[in-house]
Amino acid sequence: MEFNLFSNWSLKSGYPFLMAGPCSAENAEQVLAAARELKKIPIHLFRAGVWKPRTRPNSFEGAGEEGLKWIKAAKDETGLPSTVEVASPLHVELALKYGVDVLWIGARTMVSPFTVQSIADSLSGTDIPVIVKNPVNPDIDLWIGGIERIYNNGITQLAAIHRGFSTYDKSKYRNKPLWEIPLELKRRYPDLPLLCDPSHIGGKRELLLPLAQKALDLNFDGLMIEVHPSPDEALSDAQQQITPQVFSDLLKALIIRKRNAEESVAYSSLEELRIIIDKLDEHLLETLSERMSYSEKIGVFKKENDIAIFQPERWNEIVNRVKFLAAEKNLSEDIVLKIFDFIQKESIRKQSSVMYGKVVEGNR
Ligand code: PEP
Ligand code: MN
Repeated sequence: MEFNLFSNWSLKSGYPFLMAGPCSAENAEQVLAAARELKKIPIHLFRAGVWKPRTRPNSFEGAGEEGLKWIKAAKDETGLPSTVEVASPLHVELALKYGVDVLWIGARTMVSPFTVQSIADSLSGTDIPVIVKNPVNPDIDLWIGGIERIYNNGITQLAAIHRGFSTYDKSKYRNKPLWEIPLELKRRYPDLPLLCDPSHIGGKRELLLPLAQKALDLNFDGLMIEVHPSPDEALSDAQQQITPQVFSDLLKALIIRKRNAEESVAYSSLEELRIIIDKLDEHLLETLSERMSYSEKIGVFKKENDIAIFQPERWNEIVNRVKFLAAEKNLSEDIVLKIFDFIQKESIRKQSSVMYGKVVEGNR
């Protein structure tokens, strides 16, 4: 897949790419007040939900088409491009009718291939940018599958948003970050812009800054943050929303690191350090290879003298010595023991092949 969100989009992005706005569009004044303040910061894209997927019925489920009119009015005044969540072909049709610039697909919608497919089909021929949240369950293939369904309908201006995952066990997060999943997505699709939504991961204001910082430290391309003129009175997600002022302070507090090592003036010294690391890695492997050749010699000795391959006392002796050395050399005992577990397995494999002329796996 080839993506071109930031190159095709007229919104040329600084770094990080910023999407912000209220969880829900609640009334014309609230939308306009948020957009005016955010325009000053500035941000790249104004978000507001008009169809809200709520966990329980009888909560505020969004202003619908009326909300699109408020968003359009805010855009007409401030010039800020807008994005709304769409969860059906009808939502797509209405969002396009009111000139919404970017569509986003929410985490709950992303779990349903049928729904994503019907949205994808309704996008055919539009060329509108689409931002795809991760599905609520931690399933990277489902996330990628959703992206593919949209891409296959001719939408190449795509981005992904990491908003955390639902898990049964309690954690300090509203949705567990499980950072390895978005990072694996980035590894597989390095050109797909990846944003982080710390609002829905954290669920609380005080977690926004550390989560946003972590996302930038992990080289995410941007952030989506819920900002409301009076968060305590918000009709949805009140606890995680912040005022434009707090948002602006948060942005100032973020440390923006260099994205590519090559950009750094210290790059040449980094290069030198990398050369040393490569050399040391080579030494490690040479030492390992030498150690294994001695394991083989011991294997020959054991065979000739009819001694069992695995000697528990000797193994305990090695473990205790290694623990002592790890502490002395300021290495984590846990990691060093794991490494030695592999070394011992390989050693047994080598000795088994000496003894039986073939490999015997995991026989200790
Ligand atoms: C939202 O961004 O307001 C939203 C509903 O998010 P999610 O789909 O991540 O729950
Ligand atoms: Mn929300």
